[in-house]
Amino acid sequence: MQSLPLYPTLEAARLAAQDCTACQRCADRQQVVFGSGNPQASLMLVGEAPSATDDDTGKPFSGPAGRLLDQLFSKVGLHRNDVWITNLTRCFSGRERNGRIENRPAAAREIDACATWMDMEIRYVNPSVILAVGAPPAKRLIDRNFRLQEQRGVIFQRSDGSLVIATIQPAYVMRLTSLVDKAASDIAREQLLGDIRLAARNAGLISD
Ligand code: SF4
Repeated sequence: MQSLPLYPTLEAARLAAQDCTACQRCADRQQVVFGSGNPQASLMLVGEAPSATDDDTGKPFSGPAGRLLDQLFSKVGLHRNDVWITNLTRCFSGRERNGRIENRPAAAREIDACATWMDMEIRYVNPSVILAVGAPPAKRLIDRNFRLQEQRGVIFQRSDGSLVIATIQPAYVMRLTSLVDKAASDIAREQLLGDIRLAARNAGLISD
């Protein structure tokens, strides 16, 4: 039997998380980006880490990747307020590359440290379907040997009976678009759209 969370409500957990210093990502953040959306959602999205924009707004997927997600949600008849959106880690961390600050991937020990909050969000929201956005969430939520290219779009069942489907990151689709690789970007966009549709259908949010 799992132990009960230390906080009486999801909102109490969100407030408590604002002071978290359990991993070194706390050194780079402006604020902790907790999950957001419908706290009773049947569908939860789990990405890897907040972006620099999310660090400004305090909301996950609030930058360009989030705008692409919103467009695809709209295509299947969803709005982000219908779902709960979160990440494996709740603090932005950046690194300099070619004179720009880009997202630093989450280290395994940081994902482990932030699992306390993620597991709490999953327990409170209690979704019937989780869409793991990108390889790190898929490895955490499905299997550490998960292979995104071969296994995305496949339905897996967790020990609590909920379903998990993995998909590619919106940022990956945008990267292909910026490389002017129209064919590859169209394929990736359709894959992401199809996985969102599959997850929403299995969560009972859409019928077709
Ligand atoms: S990433 Fe998670 S565990 Fe690390 S400091 Fe932020 S809230 Fe705490």
